[in-house]
Amino acid sequence: MNSKKNEFLTLGVDLGGTKVESALINAKGSILVSHRHPTDPEKGAERIIDDVVACVTECLAKGKKKAQALGIGIAAQVSLTGVVRTSPNLGWKNVPLKTKLEEKLKLPVVVTNDVRAAAWGEWQFGAGKGIDDLVVLFVGTGVGGSVVSSGRMLEGCNNSAGELGHTTLIVEGRKCHCPNKGCLEAYAGGWAIAERAQEAVHDNPVTGENLISLAGSIEKITASSVTQAYHEGDQLAFQLVRETAQYLSAGIVSIINAFNPCLLVLGGGVIEGLPELIKTVETSVKKRALKPSVEKFKVVKAALGDKAGIVGAAALARAQVKKQFVKLNTHKTQKSSEKSFRRSTHKKYRKRRSEEGKK
Ligand SMILES: [Zn+2]
Repeated sequence: MNSKKNEFLTLGVDLGGTKVESALINAKGSILVSHRHPTDPEKGAERIIDDVVACVTECLAKGKKKAQALGIGIAAQVSLTGVVRTSPNLGWKNVPLKTKLEEKLKLPVVVTNDVRAAAWGEWQFGAGKGIDDLVVLFVGTGVGGSVVSSGRMLEGCNNSAGELGHTTLIVEGRKCHCPNKGCLEAYAGGWAIAERAQEAVHDNPVTGENLISLAGSIEKITASSVTQAYHEGDQLAFQLVRETAQYLSAGIVSIINAFNPCLLVLGGGVIEGLPELIKTVETSVKKRALKPSVEKFKVVKAALGDKAGIVGAAALARAQVKKQFVKLNTHKTQKSSEKSFRRSTHKKYRKRRSEEGKK
């Protein structure tokens, strides 16, 4: 393990539906030690939180190190105070995760959405390092992302900024998993690619023969089957991928016009399987977006893979602790300067009084 004595380390935790993963991370975003622990949504919030505590404790024991703070990413809507509002994966509603973990671990804890944690990781240590205006978009089963504007990651009024997958592409279009219809995710997300492929094969089983034989049956066709068939030169898969690129580009044009980033970082399972989408999207967006929005614009692939979330959560915890520290010290400095101001004013007053007395 390559770590200095007394180095400021933070823990990153990724809490999913079937496992908890934790890692001890340094200021450069390097993972010093990590640990995985199984979990099960059936257990309920209290016992899953115990799994997180067990995983973290084991990770620290393995590394024989102490952490100064912990950041945890979870597939959920999270409030600014660290309450998990809803998590469909875990079946949670209004769980005060930050408070509970702080009580059990005696550490400052930051709770965030998993996509935002991964975007933070890409911004601090990955493909977006050093960029102040940046959009990170993950196209996996769903489509999610985050926006960094003027060096600040947007949180929004209710901490739900960055739900870029739910940008409307088509009025009254395909039903999304959110209350809306026609969202970008409902066309370009992995689940939507699977649905579109299944419908296309239903409509034309002859052209879909290859996809059926790859997946086993129409109902089993997934975005991965489409990717595989595409790489094998299948015509229907080619058409589905071409349409996916068009939907993705159309959604991204709106995002680019809205936020004017210098860089778009694209990641997630669909992009990993079809990296050619990056160039296609860049060319198409440059043609269709407003000229000033794309003057310096580039699209790059996410660099940290499935470690982005854990590294990002730890870095977010580090940033929060440092922010608190600065606030505390600014407050102290303010107080002491107020005191010294009062002292010097008092001194001046006494001097004036004594001078007046001499007159
Ligand atoms: Zn939606």
